Amino acid sequence: MKRAYNFNAGPSAMPLEVLQEAQAEFLNYADTGMSIIEMSHRSADYAAMHAETKTLLRELMEIPDDYEIMFIQGGGSTQFLMTAANFHTKKYAAYVNTGVWAKKAMAEAKFFGETYEAASSADKNHSYIPREFTFKPETSYVHITANNTIYGTEYQSFPKFDVPVICDMSSDILSRKVNVADFDLIYAGAQKNLGPAGAVIVIAKKSFLATARTNLPTMLKYATFAENDSLYNTPPVFAIYMINKTLHWIKNQGGVEVIAKNNAAKAKVIYDVIDNSNGFYKGHAEKNARSLMNITFNLATQEMEKDFVAQGKAAGFVGIGGHRLVGGCRASAYNAVPMEACIALADFMKQYQKDHE
Ligand SMILES: *Cc1c(COP(=O)(O)O)cnc(C)c1O
Repeated sequence: MKRAYNFNAGPSAMPLEVLQEAQAEFLNYADTGMSIIEMSHRSADYAAMHAETKTLLRELMEIPDDYEIMFIQGGGSTQFLMTAANFHTKKYAAYVNTGVWAKKAMAEAKFFGETYEAASSADKNHSYIPREFTFKPETSYVHITANNTIYGTEYQSFPKFDVPVICDMSSDILSRKVNVADFDLIYAGAQKNLGPAGAVIVIAKKSFLATARTNLPTMLKYATFAENDSLYNTPPVFAIYMINKTLHWIKNQGGVEVIAKNNAAKAKVIYDVIDNSNGFYKGHAEKNARSLMNITFNLATQEMEKDFVAQGKAAGFVGIGGHRLVGGCRASAYNAVPMEACIALADFMKQYQKDHE
């Protein structure tokens, strides 16, 4: 069986071992005679897996005890509105506009009160991460996007803010070490670095959760998930199960620090080709804001980009076209993308340049 060189932006590559394990036990989970997706979410077998997933996440991310871990459906996009519904309780909510996802988050918050941009990278087509922020009094929180999946920029370190911080880590969770205590709430859809679509991981400080608005529908309240161990209603069992397997895989690789080292090495292979191409490939992100997850670049013309993507596809590379809103090219090298795929892409890029210069 030949596996594709998968550079999809999301859903995206999963570790082969994780897929194989899921396949091997899909018909008969833990000798129950049924699949994990066929059993009650109140059963002991499910409960053990659910609890272990949280324990593994807490261990791998070193999540302090005063933080809740929740599994919620609806994708990152539902978190845009849920964060605002729960926490936009003062006059304003601040957003750092680093691109499409940040803007979408801000648009949802407008249903719950006034918003403003604490900073924006729109002036340079979101090719950098702002470093200066201005806050108004009466600001409920600031919302930031750790990694900008579409533009290929990423906070290489996180600023300190003196308002509560909500962070969208959908496309770089567990790709590197972060200090969870620097955030009041972190959310991340699973389908980029952790598993299939269908579950969002939410990590929230208990004292911050206590400040949430209470007059909300049941399923919009974080309290519903926090107080019921994410089992108020049926959780996305298959997605959580795959997250569990991915977390085991990360642990077996040596944990987040090893993953982070691998990610840096993988991205470097491709950025080096860009940097040594004498301008044949132009990286979109400024160097000090480069994403290790989504490597974005342009060729001289749109026609060449189209041809590059088509020839790449013929050579076995999937997902190297840019996002439909911004064009160009993008290689997403999430945790599960092997170094071998990155080297193959780098070789292909060098050869393509030779053939087209
Ligand atoms: C993909 C993505 C989202 C949206 O996730 P959905 O699960 O499709 O709603 C939000 N934020 C970031 C940073 C993303 O990369």
